[in-house]
Amino acid sequence: MSVDPKPGVLDLVREDLRDFGGYSSARTEALCGEIWLNANESPWANPADADGNSRRYPDPQPQALREKLAGLYGCDITRLLIGRGSDEAIDLLVRALCEPGRDAVVVTPPVFGMYAVCARLQNARLVEVPLVDDEAGFAPDFAAIADAALTNRAKLVFLCSPSNPTGGSIPLADVGALARKLEGRALVVVDEAYGEFSDVASAIGLIDRCSNIAVLRTLSKAHALAAARIGSLIADAGLIAVLRCCQAPYPVPAPCTELALAALTGAALARTRQRVETVKAARARLQTDLAALPSVVRVYPSQGNYLLVRFRDAETAFQALLSSGVVVRDQRSAPQLDDALRISIGTPEQNALVLDVLQRLDAGSRAVNA
Ligand SMILES: *Cc1c(COP(=O)(O)O)cnc(C)c1O
Repeated sequence: MSVDPKPGVLDLVREDLRDFGGYSSARTEALCGEIWLNANESPWANPADADGNSRRYPDPQPQALREKLAGLYGCDITRLLIGRGSDEAIDLLVRALCEPGRDAVVVTPPVFGMYAVCARLQNARLVEVPLVDDEAGFAPDFAAIADAALTNRAKLVFLCSPSNPTGGSIPLADVGALARKLEGRALVVVDEAYGEFSDVASAIGLIDRCSNIAVLRTLSKAHALAAARIGSLIADAGLIAVLRCCQAPYPVPAPCTELALAALTGAALARTRQRVETVKAARARLQTDLAALPSVVRVYPSQGNYLLVRFRDAETAFQALLSSGVVVRDQRSAPQLDDALRISIGTPEQNALVLDVLQRLDAGSRAVNA
């Protein structure tokens, strides 16, 4: 009697892409030589390129950076794909897994907008399972997510932890339980763009047991390298190999690799870790101080480097901050957030200014009411 093999994560890849080899670039052909005349590159460095590192096409997945990132995130190197920010990884996942016009993507609004944008571009149906706003803050409704994923034949479920903009982290047990329910049916993607600021451990450790979990990390937020566009997808090694074939031929620019490598060594990395602690402390202080203001209705607990704040009059708060030169994120067009602003944690001086502006606003409105 033959037993059908358990469906694996590769069964989630679009059928027409399963044996797709991608573009075979000059850099991927394993040849040896001293004089490289196979890629139509210039034999001379550009005069502006002092060290000459940009003359030739880069390694599509620079080995040294892959090793560093795998070490940083605590995963096997075969499970890590570097992309142009985690934004590219989101796009790759949607394109490689969702058949246009047929498959669906589950998201949990209010949440980061790129999942919906990528679904739209791929003509994948967007299934929304709203976060539930309760005493402890916004949280996903896991029973409803599993239900929606199964009934809509979703290939992807995007979870955001810590969630942007709501701030909550998702307990690992909930991620694991959801992944087990959706095994062979959907990939559960945990976007940990703000993972460095969270007290909840990374979901990367769950991939060993649940191959249908994928994790997104980035150097854009805690590591202060948003312009370098270095994001990582950590997932099943087979899935990573497939996605690599769907990616642009040279996705990681050499100057960005150099900058990232320098940022991930010794003193720079230690400084980054210190700054994460500084942000966490400032976040706690600002949360308390904002919650004490009469104009503030609610400050959500946050595991990220931002606070979601509900105001009695969000427009006035937004404009007051703006006229002091402080730009915060207006969340009022997001579902369930029609009175909310998202405020990033800045330097101590910047945080003090935010607080000062809002305190003066309250003092002003008291004077008017008196
Ligand atoms: C900022 C952000 C990203 C984008 O990260 P990049 O690596 O810069 O593309 C991804 N997810 C969430 C939730 C974010 O807030």
